[in-house]
Amino acid sequence: MRVGIVGWRGMVGTVLMQRLQAEGDLNGLSVRFYSTSAAGQPAPIREAASQVVLDAHDLATLAAEDVILTAQGGDYTSAVHAPLRAMGWNGYWIDAASTLRMQPQAVLVLDPLNRAAIESALAAGAKDFVGANCTVSLMLLGLAGLFKAGLVDWITAMTYQAASGAGAAHMRELVEQMGFAHRCVSSQLADPSVSVLSIEESLNAALKSPLLPAAQFGGPLAGSLIPWIDADLGTGQSKEEWKGMVEANKILGSTHAPLALDGICVRVGAMRCHSQALTIKLNQELPLAEIEDLIAHAHPWVRLIANNREASVRELSPVAVSGTLTVPVGRLRQLPMGPAYLSAFTLGDQLLWGAAEPLRRMLKLLRGTL
Ligand code: NAP
Repeated sequence: MRVGIVGWRGMVGTVLMQRLQAEGDLNGLSVRFYSTSAAGQPAPIREAASQVVLDAHDLATLAAEDVILTAQGGDYTSAVHAPLRAMGWNGYWIDAASTLRMQPQAVLVLDPLNRAAIESALAAGAKDFVGANCTVSLMLLGLAGLFKAGLVDWITAMTYQAASGAGAAHMRELVEQMGFAHRCVSSQLADPSVSVLSIEESLNAALKSPLLPAAQFGGPLAGSLIPWIDADLGTGQSKEEWKGMVEANKILGSTHAPLALDGICVRVGAMRCHSQALTIKLNQELPLAEIEDLIAHAHPWVRLIANNREASVRELSPVAVSGTLTVPVGRLRQLPMGPAYLSAFTLGDQLLWGAAEPLRRMLKLLRGTL
């Protein structure tokens, strides 16, 4: 199988390459690397079928691949996918970008939830396979047991999304803002006689200062938050919030009778893991132990965290989960509105299960090795 990899230099692409290599997924494949800006440079691995990086806009070369695996971005997909298909290319297109997600021929991939749907789409000749929005994938993985049992009536998801979801430049800016804020108050901090309210006042002034590095976020994220992610749809809903319901229903195969899913998406000062506080309305009342059991045993990556302070502090934080494939679910309890109303808190690494891992696994599914 000939595989062309595009977008391997980026953040998602780097994590994807780490996982492909760690799992030996490239063994036995003829792999060529492409770039829109680094063609001609040496290929990133010795085993590559081309020792140099190829031009990612060279359609004739791309058309020789059986599979194109791209984490390059939406503009690239828009520029290349349709012209390649128009040339008659009939290979498999596996993509991290959102461009194709809601197109009818594209299958959203999250195999712990929808492996059967992916396999039947493959059998029916589907060729476009796209990773879903990171927050959607992580929420579905956390609650997979409830979805599989058909128990969910509706969900609100209030998110706490990391800087990494916005890209590398945003992650750098968050750390720069942290450093800027600290520098502005470090002498006050070093003096125990300075009141904390004075420190807070100076910090607040620093975060409002035009000198704060804020070109990416447009304002302070360190020491603050931003309750809007992605484009303004003009309906009161952000594009990130809109994606939640439409993509989740596409993955669950429930577009004909959509599950209601909405909430407010908030950017917080975490670096790499997205978190979500969920209110879940079940369509029947069940004992909490049964609900816990369903959630805990849905797939190998979900982990039920005891609903107590110590376990929550230790295991339900972006710092604890960053760099792992574990999707912890905690703070699970029945709410005073009635036993069918649950709270839950879940999080996951959005560069792994939120982006790279479903694509890596799709390649394995294509090879019949998953
Ligand atoms: P990124 O880090 O900005 O990388 C995108 C591309 O920028 C690279 O593949 C590379 O392509 C190019 N690039 C230009 N200069 C570069 C440099 N100095 N270093 C590295 N790359 C450079 O974007 P990303 O966050 O990985 O996202 C890629 C796609 O995945 C997007 O469509 C995004 O929406 C989607 N996605 C992202 C996340 C996330 O958590 N960030 C989650 C799910 C989906 P060339 O080699 O062609 O120049």
